[in-house]
Amino acid sequence: MGEKRKVVIVGGVAGGASAAARLRRLDEEAEIVVLERSGYVSYANCGLPYYVGGVITDREELTLQTPQSFRARFNIEVRTGHEALSIDRRAKKLRVRRLEDGAEYEESYDRLILSPGARAAVPELPGAEDGRVRTLRTVEDALSLRELALSASPRRAVVIGGGFIGLEAAECLVRAGLEVTLMQRGLQVLPPFDADMVGEIHAKLRECGVDLRLGCRPEGFFPAGEGLALRTAEGEEIVCGLALLAVGVLPETGLAAQAGLELGPKGAIVVDEQLRTSDKDIYAVGDAVAVRQLVSGRETVIPLAGPANRQGRIAADAICGLPSKYRGTQGSTVVKVFDMTCAVTGINEKEARAAGLAYDKVINYCASHAGYYPGGQNMTIKTLFEPESGRILGAQITGGEGVDKRIDVLATAIRAGLTSAGLAELELAYAPPYSSAKDPVNMVGFTIENVRQGIVKQFHWHEVAALPRDGSVTLLDVRSPGEFAGGHIEGAVNIPLPELRERLGELERGKTVFVNCYSGLRSYIACRILTGKGFDCRNLSGGWRFYEAVTRECRDEAHHPCGERK
Ligand code: FAD
Repeated sequence: MGEKRKVVIVGGVAGGASAAARLRRLDEEAEIVVLERSGYVSYANCGLPYYVGGVITDREELTLQTPQSFRARFNIEVRTGHEALSIDRRAKKLRVRRLEDGAEYEESYDRLILSPGARAAVPELPGAEDGRVRTLRTVEDALSLRELALSASPRRAVVIGGGFIGLEAAECLVRAGLEVTLMQRGLQVLPPFDADMVGEIHAKLRECGVDLRLGCRPEGFFPAGEGLALRTAEGEEIVCGLALLAVGVLPETGLAAQAGLELGPKGAIVVDEQLRTSDKDIYAVGDAVAVRQLVSGRETVIPLAGPANRQGRIAADAICGLPSKYRGTQGSTVVKVFDMTCAVTGINEKEARAAGLAYDKVINYCASHAGYYPGGQNMTIKTLFEPESGRILGAQITGGEGVDKRIDVLATAIRAGLTSAGLAELELAYAPPYSSAKDPVNMVGFTIENVRQGIVKQFHWHEVAALPRDGSVTLLDVRSPGEFAGGHIEGAVNIPLPELRERLGELERGKTVFVNCYSGLRSYIACRILTGKGFDCRNLSGGWRFYEAVTRECRDEAHHPCGERK
């Protein structure tokens, strides 16, 4: 048997706790010490907003383990309230401060794993030091934010930042009984989504009472009566009882920088496939490390719990001589926005363009389960693919029931390198309460295959405005007269699908026909009829529904999400 190894882990939550537990399972003899700055170990960061909102009522639920349970179950020494201050790589020692009394000591290691996570970015705003301006990262933050949310006066909260944490926090503060203003500097919430997928999310937030301000920049806080006023660059003052800064996170890599480890994008720690840093005895995992975006291959940071947990496991494997490798992060994420579910995986259009990848996209609008079985909910699926190969590059889904399941299938497809033909082939479990015999993921595969094989040509919502209205092309809407009367694309003629075969004579031959229906399904059938009769035609991807949802937002100059395209 080799020498007993001593592994010290900095950070005892997602990555650190996973690494510690895996290490012990692989090596019963190792000495394992976890240093955690906060007062809690292995806590549920992802559950924190729900404690603030009163969905999780028992604070005990937020901590998955305690130092005592770690000791009893894993024989691991967890020191909460201990901060690693610096690393002496030559001596293989850490300088540590016990926060309770400020005492400092040295801790030696054979192998060191850094899992210090990411800290909330705090914009430099005058007045941000006011105790009512908060961030949310630790259990301590959540406990005190809950108290503040219950006592805040006036009863308004401003959440600055419309990412996943900002949205969850906004919903939870509404639940805690506050009026909520959600302020986002850009023109859309949830940047991993494309602008054209967030219109319904914006609408949902507004419908649920959130005062959503897009394109709005905070300038500073100052006292206003018993409240706190937030002044915006647009000259407005919003008086609130609390403000939450959720403008993103930055890798917490001060320790790594001090130790002279190689750093990459956003100062994140550079690691190899086994999570080893530029020092062969130091590993790093989680939000603090740079990762390879699985689809684009670009070096970036993607702070998510799943990758942090897997990396912790892989670092432990590597220390114990197992060949496990971390191949990249694809950014699979799901978020609840009131009764909506929004999920992404892989890359969006902006990332595909930045990576110089050739891509096309399809929009599907599908029911979560068979239409005849009660309670189904529709979902919008946007899927990016590589035209040449059919490789799936990314997907974004908004809806309700069943969104999480479809994003996970698509995430698996991306990880496995499946193409659209592969999606069409997937045999997924079906019974009416759960799905359709042609699952939405199959439908995505069918649609992409139809496009790739030239069975249907499509056009997109952002191309509609530029279509000539001088009679050189035909805009055809194949919905019912009632649907058409409720709103349609300017210049379109209405021939309902069931009448199309008899009324073909009304369409001028030699002119390209741009066809739409509500969701893209009837217009696809119309395109097949027209193609069979010798017309050149295009199907509006996502149909009138998607076009209308996106352009409705665009029409409202105050908060149009598609400024990029304007
Ligand atoms: P962390 O889990 O943050 O742990 C790092 C720990 O290291 C911290 O406890 C810190 O106190 C400690 N530490 C740092 N420096 C030192 C030091 N010098 N000495 C000692 N200790 C130190 N991800 C999802 O995938 N889904 C979600 O729904 C989701 N929701 C989230 C909600 C919130 C409010 C937050 C804050 C994050 C959420 N995340 C979510 C992100 C997810 O929690 C992180 O990606 C994940 O926890 C990262 O793991 P980590 O080990 O790198 O860092």
